[in-house]
Amino acid sequence: MSLLQDRQLTEISIDELMIPSEKVAHVQINNPLEHALLVLVKSGYAAVPVLDASYKYVGIIGKTVILDQMLGLENFEIEKLSEMKVKEVIDRNIPTLTRDCTLLEGLNAVIDHTFVCLVDKDGFFDGILTRRAILKEIKKNIYINSYKK
Ligand code: AMP
Repeated sequence: MSLLQDRQLTEISIDELMIPSEKVAHVQINNPLEHALLVLVKSGYAAVPVLDASYKYVGIIGKTVILDQMLGLENFEIEKLSEMKVKEVIDRNIPTLTRDCTLLEGLNAVIDHTFVCLVDKDGFFDGILTRRAILKEIKKNIYINSYKK
C-alpha cells in the first residue's frame, strides 16, 4: 500500500519513511579517521553521520574525503589516518530535517544528497532519510495512479 495513495505529498511526514537512529551506522567526532574508514568500509556506505559524545548531530563524513587525506606525493600514506580526527574533515554544511517535515520537504533535501540526517528540537540525532526511500514511495504512487487509468 502506498502512503501517497490517498494523501497529498505535503500531508505525509518523514517519520513514515525514515531509518531510525538505532539502525544507522555512525562515527563520533573525536574518532580517528582510521576508525571512520573502517566503519565506512565494513558497512559498505559511502558516508555516515557524525555525532558528538552526547549523540547530537554534527555533520557527515564520507570515504572520498578520507582517501583524499591519505594521499601523499607518490602513494597513499595510511598512517596519516591515525593522526587525524573526524572533526578535522567533517562536512557540516548538509541540511537537516525533523521527523515531522513533509515528504515534499524531504524530496527537496535529497535532490543534492543521497541521504540527509534528522534531528530533534534539541539537536539530538533522530535518524536518516535516504533518496532511495523517497523515490520508492513516489514510484509506488506512479504505478498505482497508472493502474487507476
Ligand atoms: P541507500 O539509498 O540505501 O543506498 O543509502 C544511501 C546512503 O545513505 C548510503 O550510501 C549511506 O551513506 C546512507 N545510509 C543508508 N542507510 C544507512 C545506515 N543504516 N547507516 C548509515 N548510513 C546509511
